[in-house]
Amino acid sequence: MHTMSNANAPIYTRSTAQITALLADLGQPKFRLNQLLDWLYVRQAKSYDEMTNLPIPLREQLAKAAPIVPLTIDDRRVSADGTRKYLFALHDGLVVETVGIPSGSADAPRLTVCFSTQVGCAMGCAFCATGEEGFTRNLGMGEIICQVLEVQRDFGCRVTNLVAMGQGEPFANYEMVLDALRVLNNPKGIAIGARKITVSTSGIISGIRKFAAEPQQFTLAVSLHCARQAERNLMMPGLAGQPLRELRGALFDYVQATNRRVTLEYLMMAGTNDRDEDLEALLAFCDGLLCHVNLLPLNPIAHSALKPSKDATIARWIEALEGVGVEATVRRSRGSDIQGACGQLKNARG
Ligand code: SAH
Ligand code: SF4
Repeated sequence: MHTMSNANAPIYTRSTAQITALLADLGQPKFRLNQLLDWLYVRQAKSYDEMTNLPIPLREQLAKAAPIVPLTIDDRRVSADGTRKYLFALHDGLVVETVGIPSGSADAPRLTVCFSTQVGCAMGCAFCATGEEGFTRNLGMGEIICQVLEVQRDFGCRVTNLVAMGQGEPFANYEMVLDALRVLNNPKGIAIGARKITVSTSGIISGIRKFAAEPQQFTLAVSLHCARQAERNLMMPGLAGQPLRELRGALFDYVQATNRRVTLEYLMMAGTNDRDEDLEALLAFCDGLLCHVNLLPLNPIAHSALKPSKDATIARWIEALEGVGVEATVRRSRGSDIQGACGQLKNARG
């Protein structure tokens, strides 16, 4: 594990290991870590001065070495369906998008936050606005946590569900993402149930293997989108080095290790990945695998010729999957009127 971080890097950019190393450098006892994390991410202190159980000299050292730079809301849009999309500015002026999606009933309100894990993404998927923008940098633990806390504050009610489906590939930033999820899941803190936290990966095999060994019961979703190797390589060039055969093997091992099923996301694009041979390949991929398939009609993105599949095609696929005993549903995104739906998030302003 690497514990190096830049001198004076703001505290929200640092991992748990990096904060541990910083406190050790400052000659502090081990229990300071939990005190500091509690102030930052449970009580949500915005200044070291508030941290009254830390010695004053330590507060001064921390303010210099690892300043607290809050995320600021650069833009906020509210969809006709109640979904809210936020553009948060980070300490270095870069921005990320986060979406808050209210649902449920008055007795059982739900608030799902779709958060980003990177500024941009290196995977370059042809159908995704984030992929089009390229990769800029990884988010730090606190930058991930604060997206959730800011949305919670703005809605004025508890966040109940989390999905790592904003910008970025979570398993390309594994340590920061898992550090953030442990804080968000901590029953003494923000306390979002592990089963209500879903990480969506485009299919990074080493990440899936590590994730299977995590003690928390987080949920795994995999963006499959195509079960034919050559065609998938064209659609998702950043995943060409992660062969479908090995991906499928890792998913079988995941199910065996965790006893949990995996969600397969499949974006339906007319004439691109929705032909009969694509369906055959998907059925073969699912054969014997404990999974749930989510079919998503493509959300349109600018300058792209890709089109969503016809409703009739999607209905036929659902029938075919259920016919062989694979549970399958259609998922429709919310917030598309504010460009807040899956795949529409960009790292550019305006
Ligand atoms: N990088 C991760 C998580 C972020 S993307 C991943 O790819 O899984 C979240 C989801 O939105 C993925 O399933 C992704 O494939 C999907 N998506 C991307 N572009 C889309 C679009 N134009 N319409 C609908 N969903 C899209
Ligand atoms: Fe990255 Fe996911 Fe978009 Fe692909 S779909 S470019 S992996 S964010």
